[in-house]
Amino acid sequence: MIKKSLFQIAKMITVENDLNIHGSVSIKGISIDSRKIEEGNLFVPFKGEHSDGHKFVEEAIEKGAAAAFWQQDVPNPPLHLPIIMVKDTLIALQELARSYRNELDVKVVGITGSNGKTTTKDMTASLLSVQYKVQKTEGNYNNHIGLPLTVLSLEEDTEIAVLEMGMSAKGEIEFLTKLARPNVVMITNIGESHLQDLGSREGIAEAKLEIIQGLQEDGLIVFHGDEPLLTNTLSTYKGNATLKTFGRLESNDLFPKEITQHDNGSEFKTSLSDLTFHLPVLGIHNILNALAAMLTANHFAIPFEKMNHAFSSLKLTNMRMELVEGYKGEKVINDAYNASPTSMKAAIELVSNLPGYENKILVLGDMLELGSEEKAYHVEIGKTLDSDKVQYVFTFGKLGESIAEGARFVMPEDRVKSYLEKEKLIEDLREVTNDCTLILVKGSRGMKLEEVVRALQQL
Ligand code: ATP
Ligand code: MG
Repeated sequence: MIKKSLFQIAKMITVENDLNIHGSVSIKGISIDSRKIEEGNLFVPFKGEHSDGHKFVEEAIEKGAAAAFWQQDVPNPPLHLPIIMVKDTLIALQELARSYRNELDVKVVGITGSNGKTTTKDMTASLLSVQYKVQKTEGNYNNHIGLPLTVLSLEEDTEIAVLEMGMSAKGEIEFLTKLARPNVVMITNIGESHLQDLGSREGIAEAKLEIIQGLQEDGLIVFHGDEPLLTNTLSTYKGNATLKTFGRLESNDLFPKEITQHDNGSEFKTSLSDLTFHLPVLGIHNILNALAAMLTANHFAIPFEKMNHAFSSLKLTNMRMELVEGYKGEKVINDAYNASPTSMKAAIELVSNLPGYENKILVLGDMLELGSEEKAYHVEIGKTLDSDKVQYVFTFGKLGESIAEGARFVMPEDRVKSYLEKEKLIEDLREVTNDCTLILVKGSRGMKLEEVVRALQQL
């Protein structure tokens, strides 16, 4: 993490006045939450619409913060404390991160895409850790605040930083990539999330491709080669970065072969090696995330044998395709973390094709933020179901009803159930499960479908 004197910090950013910059004070790390202050932190308060972090500056310093930023337009600065007066505390934080990144001798891998960023980030970091000192974005700290904080958490001897870059509007990835100046950029896929804000899938692809704007000379671009919106644009790419594609199609630089799926993961070979890779996470989409990670690891000269070993001890962030057991012995795939049509189809495909279960049930909730075509997207999901492979579908929420509507085209009425109340859904679901049941639980974060998973785990 950043370790500097307050004086050095002040030189890295634009300061409004330097009255309270005590040169002897040194700071260690940044905190934006006064409840989580650690000794020596620089506390950065934000002035929000509803609350103002400046109220907690005194408290933060009492708890051990060495200093704080103070936004000039906030009245009554505590002039007896070590503070740096800035025009805007968020901009100052970003400026500090940008200067710090430029000082560091670290290679940066930037990851964006509609789905799979966090997973690909975790996989990439675990492959690179075999040979390098690696730091990565914690959890989902991928936005205009999280990314600067992640950069400022980097140690001076870290060799590679793997950073997730998220967005909900045009221009956001451009901002993040120009701050992080990656040596490698990865685009996992183009889906439909944020369709509401970006208008079309073309708009989404353009926004993700902004990541190239911060790429350093002679960098590497790793992207999903099955996606025409990416391949079309990148086929006319004129820069000097190397392009590498992954995907299911054999036209890609790296594609999977001889895939077998089990309920604890999958096995596959690849076009670049004879090894059989064992991936302890579910779903073809995770094989694609793994392939993306492998291309980046290959760029950093990690041998395939070592990658295979790293995959075997992979740990992913929670609620992404997590397999848990219900109290009746039923297996539950908890994918309640989020949902978009692409990830919903990937999860349904996985469950539909997993061998060894007599009874498969889908519990599907609303996919939010899809814009004006949201209903059609939900109906379409319902229509893709295969009544030979899935016994029941339970939908939850208003849009969920449209999934049920689509499902009724392809499944008998009595196997399609739609709910607006979670308690009732859980009650009815319990009636049809047993120890040979596999249940997929998936919906947007806001639907809180993990409550269904928890209920299944309890008596
Ligand atoms: P967020 O935008 O919330 O940060 P993310 O892009 O980081 O999401 P993950 O957290 O890795 O994505 O995965 C979220 C969900 O997306 C997973 O639970 C899975 O269902 C689905 N998913 C992951 N990878 C892919 C992929 N390559 N293609 C389609 N769906 C995927
Ligand atoms: Mg994420």
